[in-house]
Amino acid sequence: MAEKKKIKKEKEKEPDITFFHPDLLEVPEDGLPYLKAYRCKKCGQLDFPKLNPCPTCWGEEFEMVPLSRKGILYSFSDIYIGAPGLETPYIMGYIDLPEDIRIFAQLAGEVKTFKCGEEVELTIGPLKNNADGLPIISYKFQKV
Ligand SMILES: [Zn+2]
Repeated sequence: MAEKKKIKKEKEKEPDITFFHPDLLEVPEDGLPYLKAYRCKKCGQLDFPKLNPCPTCWGEEFEMVPLSRKGILYSFSDIYIGAPGLETPYIMGYIDLPEDIRIFAQLAGEVKTFKCGEEVELTIGPLKNNADGLPIISYKFQKV
């Protein structure tokens, strides 16, 4: 019993998260990061992030679809009253990807440099710090 408690305490010291959404973002050691969408095996709807059950047919089986790293910025805004833990201002945008899906993501860079209809590409960067003060890395889009 005492042994178990000790192991648990040591685990608590480890960083709790490295990547904000490991189910959405894949960062291969020897390749470029990509986002993971999920296609419903029953009706074919593609969702990012994954919705379970499928909102169209209530299907519960999905296949992972790697998304393109480049897309077109549909719309964006700078945020001054943000989510807890996030440094403001930051920029959020909608990006249209070739897989015919529009995703919502943070943009990396200066707000005045972005224009709707321009190409952006996937990158990764710190989102905020975890309970241990270590950066949590998430997906973002930047100008190409
Ligand atoms: Zn479905």
